[in-house]
Formats: sequence, C-alpha cells, structure tokens
Amino acid sequence: MVTKDFDVVIVGAGAIGCSTALELAPDHDVLVLEKGLLTNSASANASAFISDWWLFLGRKHVPGATDMLHEFFSDFDGTGEFEYHDHPYIELVAEEKTASQPDQEVEALKESIEDIDGISFNTATELEDRWPGALDLTSYEGGFVDDRAGVIDPVHYLRAMKEQAEEMGVEFRMQTEVTELVSDGNSVVGVETEHADEPIYADDVVVAAGVHTDDLVSEFADLPMGTFVIYGATLQSNTVSAEAVPTVSNDQLMVGPDVRGNFTTGIEYWVDGPESIPPNLPQEGLLSAAEHIPDLLNDFGDVLFLEDQTYKCPEGITVTPDQLPVIEELTDGLVVADGSRGAVALSPVIAAAITATITGGETPFSLDHFSMDRFDSDVSEVDIPFVEEAPQSF
Ligand SMILES: Cc1cc2nc3c(=O)[nH]c(=O)nc-3n(C[C@H](O)[C@H](O)[C@H](O)COP(=O)(O)OP(=O)(O)OC[C@H]3O[C@@H](n4cnc5c(N)ncnc54)[C@H](O)[C@@H]3O)c2cc1C
Repeated sequence: MVTKDFDVVIVGAGAIGCSTALELAPDHDVLVLEKGLLTNSASANASAFISDWWLFLGRKHVPGATDMLHEFFSDFDGTGEFEYHDHPYIELVAEEKTASQPDQEVEALKESIEDIDGISFNTATELEDRWPGALDLTSYEGGFVDDRAGVIDPVHYLRAMKEQAEEMGVEFRMQTEVTELVSDGNSVVGVETEHADEPIYADDVVVAAGVHTDDLVSEFADLPMGTFVIYGATLQSNTVSAEAVPTVSNDQLMVGPDVRGNFTTGIEYWVDGPESIPPNLPQEGLLSAAEHIPDLLNDFGDVLFLEDQTYKCPEGITVTPDQLPVIEELTDGLVVADGSRGAVALSPVIAAAITATITGGETPFSLDHFSMDRFDSDVSEVDIPFVEEAPQSF
C-alpha cells in the first residue's frame, strides 16, 4: 500500500489535460505534468475552429454533447484574455454522393440533427440565399451548417484554463516528462518522471499525452489510432474578407478565419509516428491546398501566404477510425483520452467524460460513444478524409 501524493495525476497539458484539470479541480487534488511548455502542444498550434462538426465527422451524433460544448464556450471566461468568436461553419455535401453508401450516412445524419439547436442541413439554394455569391456551390447538393460554431485563440484558451485551474488549487509542473506508469498488481498507482528519484503516487492517472499516449499505456492496450501531421498555413485573399464568408469544408479541404481575421488552411499527411516527421515543410503541399480554395470560395483572387505563419505540428496528431476520442479506464487507476480529430473543440466534452469515468458521475451523453469496444480489436489501418499519403519528397 502506497501513500498517495495527489488524487489525480494528469499527463499532458494540451487541451484535454488542461480542461480535465479544470473540471476535476473543485473536488480533487490534481497535478498536471507536461514535458514541454504550454505553447508546444498540437492544441496550442491548432486552427481552433470550435464546431459540432468535430463530432459529426465520422457521421456520429452524440446526443447531449453538442449543447455541453456550446454552453462551455459561450460561458467560459477564464481570466479575461479568452474570447469566443462566433463564426458559422459549413460542411458541404457533394452531389455525386447521393447514390452511394456515404450518402446514406448523410441522410441518417440529416435525420439525427433535426432536434439539435444551431445545426441544420441547407440546400445549395438556401446557402446561396444566405451567403450570396460567396461559395462555389456548383457540385454540391447543400451543406450542414453549424450556426453556433466559432473560432478561438488556442494559446489563450490553454492559458486561461491553466490559470483558472491553478486558482482552484491544481498544480502544473512544466518541462517534466513522465517516463513510465507505476503499477501495483493490476492497478496503476502513479508515475515516474524524468528528474525525480521517487514516483508520484495518485488514486488515478489520466494519460492525455497526445501522440505519446499509446507508448505510455502500451502495457495495457493497443490503442486503435493512426498518426498524422498537419502542415498549416495562414493566408490572406486580396479580394475576400475572412469575416464575410463562413468557415467551409468539403472532403478535401477546410478553410476559414482565424481570430485575427486571416484565413487558415492546411494539408495533412499520415506518418508512422512522431519520430518520422521530417524537419522540412513540403511547400508544394500547401500550394496545392491553396489551389483548391477557389473550389469552395468564389473570387478568392491571389492567395497570399503569411510566410512566418506556416506551421508543422512537431509531433503529430492521433486519430481513431471514427475520429471520436477513446476515453476509457484501461485498468484500475488508469484513464486514457486520445484520438480525437478535434480535441480542442471537444475538450469540454472529453473532460466531462474523463471526470465521469473517474468519479462514476453522470454525463448528458453516453460514454459508450467513446469506449474502445466500438472498434474491432484488430484495427490496424485508419482511413479518414483529408489525410493523404506522404509525398516521396517527405
Ligand atoms: C494545424 C492544426 C489545426 C488544427 N485544427 C483544429 C481545430 O480547428 N479544432 C480542433 O478542435 N482541433 C484542431 N486540431 C487538432 C487538435 O489540435 C488535437 O485534436 C488536440 O490538440 C489534441 O489534444 P491533446 O490534449 O490530446 O494533445 P496535445 O495537444 O498533443 O497535448 C498533449 C501534451 O502532452 C504532452 N506530453 C506528451 N508526452 C508526455 C509525457 N511523457 N510526459 C508529460 N507530458 C507529455 C505534450 O508535450 C503535449 O503538450 C488541429 C491541430 C493542428 C496541428
């Protein structure tokens, strides 16, 4: 029997780690261990579009989760620095899908969103009426519109959550890498860190370490995830104002405003893992992404890249086959949360799910949506929209 140092130790101060710390803070003694700085994570460098779309990507509707997400972002104040910028989001649905399997999923999704506030399916004519001349709708039957969507500054978000959690007693130790989990029989009872001689003991360990989650928990599970990297870019149009058009995606590209009124877009490539991400940015990938923007937005004119604002996620992002996270107690004392395509947007929902997993409390949605059991045990390949094979020059 060991004496615990904390109720909960959280590994990783990305969007999931910080939001979970904040959620647990009122009733738990929490320590967050982060191997880098708050600004290094995938979360800190995300475009940070906040939308239900991140739930619907895998054509899954999680009743109860959408309201929670929007309530959180409209109420969250943090320390005053954080701001939620309303900006509608559209996922365009191509005409040619009508006779095929994905279209049945689209039809099912249309039905399942009927009772959700703020989400609707608009025909191409309705979209044209709302945003006259803005979108190239020639090959689309319409699109899912999220009128409650928005965009945030991810660093402000992380900082605001960290500071608020600290005010509530949470301790953050930055530049402190967790090297392994400490077990006692079948239970995880703490973590070893890079510099300390002694383990840190806790009732529960939450591993929210992004691409490193799988390594840390490999003794207990083989997580059904692929890893990809985003090369992102900030750009301007000499004709279109980012405020005037919605954030928009088709199955190839997503483009929308950032909090500073520029556009942001990117290209995504599969990688084997963090160690296989090359140091150089394939500019041609970004250029080809930019070439597709006129397929979505009319009269975009010349695309001007802000050279100092291109971004390559240093270690990558993990994703499950349905793009929703796995949130699971893998063994007594060990909870894992990983694999969401949009974990910045979903962080309030993920934090609530982790907290309920630890405390046995209630959530307004079923935790089954995030259980690992929803996948076959032999998931070896993940195939999702947007992410491409890495080019030869990689
Ligand atoms: C360019 C770009 C655009 C994106 N756009 C969006 C978007 O618009 N909306 C959206 O919701 N999402 C977006 N994403 C995806 C989003 O960033 C990820 O889903 C999210 O960041 C995952 O959060 P996380 O907390 O799981 O992991 P991370 O943010 O990766 O955080 C994990 C943290 O754990 C730390 N860590 C790892 N190993 C250890 C260890 N052993 N010990 C201690 N600490 C450790 C890491 O240093 C890191 O800080 C985007 C990502 C990128 C790169």
